[in-house]
Amino acid sequence: MQGEIGVRHSIDYDMCINCGQCLINCPFGAIEQMSFLEDVMEKLNGGWTVVAIVAPAVRVAIAEEFGKPPGTLTVARLHAALKKAGFKVYENNFAADQTIMEEGTELIGRVAYWELGLKEIEFEITDSYPGSWRKKVRLELKEFENRPLPQFTSCCPAWVRYAELYYPEILPHISSCKSPQQMAGPTAKTYGALKVWKVSPEKVYTVGVMPCTAKIYEASRPEFNSAWRWLREKGLIPESVPPFRDVDAVLTTRDLAELFRRKGINPLEFSENENPEDFEWYSGGGTIFGTSGGVMEAAMRFAWSVLSGQEPPATSEEWDFVKVRGYTYPRVHASVTIPLKKELRKETGIDEVTLNVCVVNGIGFGGMHIKPVIEEVLAGTSRYHFIEVMTCPGGCLNGGGQPVEPMGTSWIDPVLPLPL
Ligand code: SF4
Ligand code: SF4
Repeated sequence: MQGEIGVRHSIDYDMCINCGQCLINCPFGAIEQMSFLEDVMEKLNGGWTVVAIVAPAVRVAIAEEFGKPPGTLTVARLHAALKKAGFKVYENNFAADQTIMEEGTELIGRVAYWELGLKEIEFEITDSYPGSWRKKVRLELKEFENRPLPQFTSCCPAWVRYAELYYPEILPHISSCKSPQQMAGPTAKTYGALKVWKVSPEKVYTVGVMPCTAKIYEASRPEFNSAWRWLREKGLIPESVPPFRDVDAVLTTRDLAELFRRKGINPLEFSENENPEDFEWYSGGGTIFGTSGGVMEAAMRFAWSVLSGQEPPATSEEWDFVKVRGYTYPRVHASVTIPLKKELRKETGIDEVTLNVCVVNGIGFGGMHIKPVIEEVLAGTSRYHFIEVMTCPGGCLNGGGQPVEPMGTSWIDPVLPLPL
C-alpha cells in the first residue's frame, strides 16, 4: 500500500501478500475484497454438493454480525445454519488435525535427523475420534538432508507469499505441508465424494469459509488441483472432465453473514446441542489453530507424545504449553524439554531433547517482527527448532476476512517490550 496522507492510495499487487489488514484497519472503509458470494449462491440452488470448509476463527466472529459481542461462541448452531443454507459441513478443525499430524511428523523428522543424528525413526500415531485408529509411521531420514532446522509453519498463505516474494532463500525451512483449507478440499472431493456423500467428485463444490482474505489467493494457486489429478490417475472420473480446483471458492466471515442474511437465516436461532456428523469431529489442538501460538501448541503436544511415548501430563503447564501463546507480544519464545522414550534413549544415548520455539504474532508493519527472525536463520545463528508465523496480529481470529469494527480490529500494542 502506497500513498501520502490526503491523497488517493494504491496497492501494488505484485508486492501485496493479500493479508487484508489494510481492509479491516482502514478508518474510511475504503478497501473491499473480491467475493464469491454470487457463485456460491448459484451452486446452492441445485445440482451440486456444496461443502463448507469452516475455519475455527469464524465460530468466534460470526455472531458479531448478528448483534452479539465479539467472541460469542457459535459452533453447532453455525453448523446447523450452514446445513439449513444447503451446505455439507467439513470442519476445518478436523483438517487442522490432519495438518498437525503431517506437520508434526515433518518436525519430528527434521529433529531426529539434525538433532538426534538418526538415519530412520519409527513411531505410532493415533486419534480419539469415533472409530479411532492407530498407524505405524517409519521415516527414512535421508530426505531431511535438504530440509533444515528450524522449521517454519506453512498454514498462513500470506506468510508463505511474503517468504516467496521477499526471502525465497528461506523456503527450504518452511514446512512442506499444505494448509488445513488445502488439505480439506481434496479430501472432500475424493474420500468425501466417494465414501461419505456417494456423489460424483466433479459435482462437489468446495467453499472455504475463512476469516482470511489470503485464503482466496491460496485457493487460486495453480498447483492446488491435486484431487482432479489423483482422480484422473486412478480412473475415477471420466477423461473428459476438465481440471477443477481443490477449493472452488472462499467466503470470508463477512461474506457468510451476507449469505445468511440473503437467505433469511440467523445462526443464533439454532441449538448448540447438535451431535457432530462425519468431518465434524476434531480435537482441541485443531481448534487453537485460530489463534496465535495455537499451531505451535498443537505441534508441541504431538512432538511431546511421539518422542516421549506418552501423553504430556494433563494437569501441568506442559500439556497446555501456555508459554508459547501469542498474547499481545509481537514475538514469543520458549523452550520445551521432552524426555525421550526408552527406544530413542537406547539408540541415541540422549535422555531428553529441548526444543526452542518462537511464535511470530503478526509479521508487523513492513515485516518488522519477522525480519530479525529470518535474518538470524539465514545467518546460521538462530537458536530455534520451530517457528510459527501468523501474518495477522493475534492470529486468524484477527484476520482480514473478519467483521470490521469502525476503527479497525487490531488490538496488538506494538510498543510492548519483547520478552526475549
Ligand atoms: S495490508 Fe496486506 S492486503 Fe493490504 S496492501 Fe498490505 S499486504 Fe496487501
Ligand atoms: S494469520 Fe490467518 S487470517 Fe491472517 S493471513 Fe494468515 S491465515 Fe489468513
